[in-house]
Amino acid sequence: MSEKKWGDEEFWGLTYDWDPDWFLTDRQKELRETLIELCEKEMRANAKRSDDELLYPRRNLELLGEHGFLALTVPEEYGGLGENHVAFAMTCETIARYGCASTAMCYVMHMGAVSTIMLRPTPELIEKYIRPLNSGKLGTLSYSDPETGSHFWYPVSSGAEKHNGGYKVRKKASWTTSGGFADFYVVQTTSPDFTGYDDLSVFVIDGDDVQAQPALWDALGLRGNQSGPIEVDNVEIPGDQVVGPIGDGAASNDEAVDPWFLIGSSSVWNGLALGTIDIAKRHTTRKRHVDVGMRVADYPTIQDYVGEAVMDTNASRAFVFSVAEAFDKATDDNTRVLEVGETARADYLHWAWQIKFVAAKNSAHVVDKMLHACGGSSYKRDMELERYLRDAKAGWVMGPTNEVLRQFVGKATLLGFESLDYWNQTYNNRAVENEIKKLDSDGKRELAAELLEQAEKDEATEPAKA
Ligand SMILES: Cc1cc2nc3c(=O)[nH]c(=O)nc-3n(C[C@H](O)[C@H](O)[C@H](O)COP(=O)(O)OP(=O)(O)OC[C@H]3O[C@@H](n4cnc5c(N)ncnc54)[C@H](O)[C@@H]3O)c2cc1C
Repeated sequence: MSEKKWGDEEFWGLTYDWDPDWFLTDRQKELRETLIELCEKEMRANAKRSDDELLYPRRNLELLGEHGFLALTVPEEYGGLGENHVAFAMTCETIARYGCASTAMCYVMHMGAVSTIMLRPTPELIEKYIRPLNSGKLGTLSYSDPETGSHFWYPVSSGAEKHNGGYKVRKKASWTTSGGFADFYVVQTTSPDFTGYDDLSVFVIDGDDVQAQPALWDALGLRGNQSGPIEVDNVEIPGDQVVGPIGDGAASNDEAVDPWFLIGSSSVWNGLALGTIDIAKRHTTRKRHVDVGMRVADYPTIQDYVGEAVMDTNASRAFVFSVAEAFDKATDDNTRVLEVGETARADYLHWAWQIKFVAAKNSAHVVDKMLHACGGSSYKRDMELERYLRDAKAGWVMGPTNEVLRQFVGKATLLGFESLDYWNQTYNNRAVENEIKKLDSDGKRELAAELLEQAEKDEATEPAKA
């Protein structure tokens, strides 16, 4: 096994012995070495600047572009590196671990946008958005709606209509990583003439057509990722900027947005946990207590902390890489172009929910434990551990939040996937019957009158039945 380098020196954190390298090809290991080198030379120093000054990590993203990473999973025929889901997991983890977590999250959202376009590639979309990626063109995913919080699949403050052979799109997003800095935004809105909130469509909006207020962004961690609100105000776009057919939004979520985002973000949370274990190794092996003649790393308590952190984090990494492998198998190493209606990654979506929960939960715990292991020194900013800790805290609250994921998995396990009812469309007869039981005869009559009145109003606006 080669030695992990940090510039000309041996890396001061965990060696390659502790990386699950059997998931990686030789080329992916080389890509990782390139990334570690970029982190050592420039990206890690820029992370501090981004965090201190709320600075967008533009230079770090340019560096990734210069080395082909902005088109990592794009087929070589379109100028990409032609890599797979495992390579994507490795890349996100490596940037967050050795370099800059804000950059890593901007990268996740960028690749999410690229992958959403590549689910339904057209010559026009490829020419305009995919081929220029190597020149540093940057995308993002703008989904979360101010009215529906972390239920980012439910865009009530948005819409689109057919207009002049193209579309007129309006979108309000409460959070958008790279908001105000990206060159293109993949957004989801209700479809033109939509029939319900499961009828969604996906559009690409150019950066110039997006109103953003980056100045509003100020957060605990990931301070460089600039996830402020954005607005697309009835912008006219050509017809070839729709991604997939009208009404493809739900399929696009299950097949592209969620699988790629969940692999990428879970890898960022794993990278942050690892980054704090690396820092803990550096500190505890160097710090001595002269009274007892021991280094901090010599105390069994500290070894116990680190041992548990390594095992839990590697369990999470192995889980993420194995789900990435499942996506690779289902898509012939990310080479299959799926027909509308065909599924591959979507068949494993419930596994992707689980990796995000496990990785975010683990990193929130490990960063705390590594802070304890390093003592008061880690509370100071110069050790960098506190930045990792603040960055990692975003894992739990980013949608789908860990509370929502527990709900999804528990409910789907007990009651079946159809019970999830993402768009609030299934009538819950049990709940209604239970509430009606509580009413006396007057209450029931009052409710019946209200319902009849509502039914008449609805009938007037419902489309005529065939
Ligand atoms: C650093 C960062 C970057 C982001 N970048 C992007 C981006 O690029 N694009 C994008 O679209 N969005 C982005 N987001 C938004 C993110 O995905 C969520 O939408 C956002 O974090 C939700 O915040 P909220 O205050 O609306 O949470 P709320 O949804 O109001 O949640 C509040 C609490 O309620 C809980 N809760 C919510 N729903 C349920 C439920 N059904 N069952 C049980 N509990 C529930 C939550 O878990 C949480 O504990 C980003 C967020 C962060 C923190």
